[in-house]
Amino acid sequence: MTSLESTAYRAALAAIESVEPRIADAVRGELTDQRASLKLIASENYASPAVLLTMGTWLSDKYAEGVIGRRFYAGCRNIDTVEAVAAEHARELFGAQHAYVQPHSGIDANLVAYWSVLAQRVQEKALSDAGVKNVNDMSESDWAQLRAAFGSQRLMGMSLDAGGHLTHGYRPNISGKMFDQRSYGTDPQTQLLDYDAVATAVREFRPLILVAGYSAYPRAINFATMREIADEVGATLMVDMAHFAGLVAGKVFTGDFDPVPHAQIVTTTTHKSLRGPRGGMVLCTEELREHVDRGCPMVLGGPIGNIMAAKAVAFAEARRPEFATYAQAIVDNARALAEGLLRRGATLVTGGTDNHLVLIDVTSYGITGRQAEDALLAANIVTNRNAVPADPNGAWFTSGVRVGTPALTTRGLGVAEMDEIADLIHTVLQATSPGTTPAGAPSKAKFVLADGVAERVSARTLDLLAPFPLYPSVDLT
Ligand SMILES: *Cc1c(COP(=O)(O)O)cnc(C)c1O
Repeated sequence: MTSLESTAYRAALAAIESVEPRIADAVRGELTDQRASLKLIASENYASPAVLLTMGTWLSDKYAEGVIGRRFYAGCRNIDTVEAVAAEHARELFGAQHAYVQPHSGIDANLVAYWSVLAQRVQEKALSDAGVKNVNDMSESDWAQLRAAFGSQRLMGMSLDAGGHLTHGYRPNISGKMFDQRSYGTDPQTQLLDYDAVATAVREFRPLILVAGYSAYPRAINFATMREIADEVGATLMVDMAHFAGLVAGKVFTGDFDPVPHAQIVTTTTHKSLRGPRGGMVLCTEELREHVDRGCPMVLGGPIGNIMAAKAVAFAEARRPEFATYAQAIVDNARALAEGLLRRGATLVTGGTDNHLVLIDVTSYGITGRQAEDALLAANIVTNRNAVPADPNGAWFTSGVRVGTPALTTRGLGVAEMDEIADLIHTVLQATSPGTTPAGAPSKAKFVLADGVAERVSARTLDLLAPFPLYPSVDLT
């Protein structure tokens, strides 16, 4: 019997095909590729058919700038419902005072957060200094002072090589241009966050905003301690939980390790471990609410109705008990993968993991992160290279490979499969050596993989995946 999802997707593809067949082919091709590859990218996942189908609707057609019940466009009642339901689920799921579900991505959520804190703390002071209530009533010289004040605020986040994100104050992102920035790293010996060292750095720099959160740090963070450190200098604590929001939603990170009760403002993506549509979100306390709600038009374009609807569906899924089981399985799998790698002699940053990701330092295999990533890909293992603390190969070639378990856990793979995956990874890395440039010099990019390894490991990945079909309800043939 043909499933409802199969019927829906076949009809959708036929409609696309009639306009632009190359796009229909790419949609089909992506399903084939995703099904066949061993996906260990820590930031990716597989959203449910309900989430995917919600995105493909006419909710996309509506403009709805503003907030629920206060829009700059007419006819927004259904978008009001969508945004209200998504925000309600988000507040309940995370125990947050306020949820703003409009951000289009994680980067956008961070921009909303930065400008909200600047509005709350810098702009409000400028208004009071000028003795006016509204920015429109400020004189030209008041404005010049406010612009200068915006441009001289301090931000402190985790350094990139310790696992921080570009949006936490790095030059390629606007956060590294608009803020006077400094970062805190990890302990050179243990590679773990050293809270005393963070406190010392914060006392010295006195940032307006202290950012906690990461893309490549394999450990839990004590946010109660981070809040104490921020409070001591009057900094606002912002936590970017883009990577681990699913572990917070699934109650793996609770108490001091749950950012929501401790930070004034929390940002996230919705498509990583949270398993929703591509998008972002900001959670905050009541004091920041009015500023956060001005994210559009401050730094965001109009809210994307179909995506907010898909966020609501994903959050509803995450409130079910099964999601807590899923979140725990992500962490159990990461731990099993780490143990499997350690047992085979691999070096892991911090020596292990508390979350969904493992960072392998490939130096001991005599190769760069770039070579490791390409060799693994040749064997159908999809990962990404990543800097390790004090990386001798820099941010481009790197010395690390980041692997994560959210996607494969969604597919149903468990602890036994993780041990087999550890074996596959180790087998490939051990069989990889540096290649040479055309001129015969040692290359940081080119690699040589021993004969037959790519074929043998690829075959094993397909055998491993076979009992765990991806989107089993979708048959396009
Ligand atoms: C992925 C990530 C982002 C950016 O998310 P996008 O949706 O790609 O904009 C921001 N912060 C952290 C910590 C991330 O890991």
